[in-house]
Amino acid sequence: MGHPARFITFNIMAVDLVQIRKLAETQEEENLRFRQFLKTRCNLEPDKIDERVFEATRRVWAGTDCTVCANCCREMKPTFSEEEVCRIARRLGMERQQFVETHLEPSDAGSENPWRCRATPCPFLKNNLCSIYEDRPADCRGYPYLYERDFVFRTMGMIERTFTCPIVYEVMEELKKSLGFLRTGSQPRIKKAGKR
Ligand code: SF4
Ligand code: SF4
Repeated sequence: MGHPARFITFNIMAVDLVQIRKLAETQEEENLRFRQFLKTRCNLEPDKIDERVFEATRRVWAGTDCTVCANCCREMKPTFSEEEVCRIARRLGMERQQFVETHLEPSDAGSENPWRCRATPCPFLKNNLCSIYEDRPADCRGYPYLYERDFVFRTMGMIERTFTCPIVYEVMEELKKSLGFLRTGSQPRIKKAGKR
């Protein structure tokens, strides 16, 4: 997730989070049509679509500063494996049980990650940075999951993430162009710092 410290080396893109939510709302219907396009009319195989997603992600991420945004750390509840619970408890000098009772609640039954943060914003977000960065859970390391395979089968989750994550929003916009999706009208983009 949001991982302010996670992506600390990226360049500056000041993100207006009210703007991103509004833009995502205006694009939601089109994003749902794009989803249908990917499933039924796009002539690329899923693994080739993944390659396009990875390319777009690299480009967009290079211009994004997660330390400015940190929105996922404020809006999402990361999940934890048992091993991660023990590791982070140790880091914080807490007993496992005390850590669970203080910060966590059960996540979905049968999940590999049986715990998730109880509250938002994440209690480990301090001054817009992750205070347990080196020990943050894999769920945080992987967010927003754009480098995972099978994008075409995960589009609903991605459309939901356009409301909170500027990187996902921009990657979706790049993909529509790169994959030849026919659009109606001009599409709004996120304004960057100094270009307002
Ligand atoms: S919401 Fe997206 S852009 Fe913002 S910190 Fe999280 S991963 Fe980075
Ligand atoms: S542990 Fe919390 S603050 Fe750290 S990256 Fe994950 S969500 Fe963000």
